[in-house]
Amino acid sequence: MSRPAADASRPARHDDPWALNADLHCHSAISDGTLSPEAVVERAHAQGVDLLALTDHDELGGQAAAMRTAHALGLAYVPGIEISVTWANETIHVLGLGIDPDDGVLVGGVAGVRAGREARAREMAAQLAAAGIEGAYEGALRHVRNPQLISRTHFARFLVEAGHCADLGEVFQRYLTEGRPGFVPHRWARLSDAVAWILGAGGTAVLAHPGRYRLDALALWALIQEFREAGGSAIEVVCGSHTRDQYARFAQMAREFDLRASRGSDFHGPGESRVELGALPPLPDAVVPVWADWPAAVAA
Ligand code: AMP
Ligand code: MN
Ligand code: MN
Ligand code: MN
Repeated sequence: MSRPAADASRPARHDDPWALNADLHCHSAISDGTLSPEAVVERAHAQGVDLLALTDHDELGGQAAAMRTAHALGLAYVPGIEISVTWANETIHVLGLGIDPDDGVLVGGVAGVRAGREARAREMAAQLAAAGIEGAYEGALRHVRNPQLISRTHFARFLVEAGHCADLGEVFQRYLTEGRPGFVPHRWARLSDAVAWILGAGGTAVLAHPGRYRLDALALWALIQEFREAGGSAIEVVCGSHTRDQYARFAQMAREFDLRASRGSDFHGPGESRVELGALPPLPDAVVPVWADWPAAVAA
């Protein structure tokens, strides 16, 4: 399947998945975004998004509100999640799109993934205190809306607010990453488990932002092979953390590996995210959108 040749008589969106403004990766305050699930959906609608998935980290708690809001606005919506995975000692993110948010195995699986965050956060704070930064746990907690989901982003917001860094980018250069104060290695889900939970819940597993991992070409190849063998069927091509060169590179990889392509801003909040909801360029013609045959996309 590839995009049909341009045809002036063809309506712009309804039978052309490539023309649909799909944003299938963003966060609410249920994980490390700053807006409520309702506000994310309202904003996506106002920004011209045609098809949306809210994909909070390791959390499904925002899905009911997001679905309700999207339904009220007439915005096509698919439930989503972004699962944290440890693969070859590297943290990898896998998106689950079109999942049943009430699936018991998925709900239980991600509850287990979340469970380690509290102890990790306390250790992060202890390291920061040893580096002369007091009160980081309490400071991060002031930015947390969901007590089950304390993340590095909340610590980063505290470090900016307390004047230790100018912005989140500087935080992740100086703190919270490998070799820097506040970095606590953590075991997330296994790749095969995360993909199995997503498939078991009726969803599509998408490898998030492949350009962001510190993997050489060989390791990335091995990751994608293993992801496919586990049942993964798409990769993010156009996303908030890829450059234009990476759109082309990962479009090529999607073709080589016979994977569908996804598009998502990874929006976390106004004034914080580089990319606004629905504002990325469309997918290249040469790839097949992951949503090409989804009922929600046809209805959009
Ligand atoms: P955690 O799941 O607690 O390890 O936190 C990971 C989150 O930190 C990611 O989802 C991003 O939102 C945020 N993050 C990681 N690196 C950066 C960066 N360089 N700039 C801004 N945010 C980042
Ligand atoms: Mn995040
Ligand atoms: Mn991610
Ligand atoms: Mn994300």
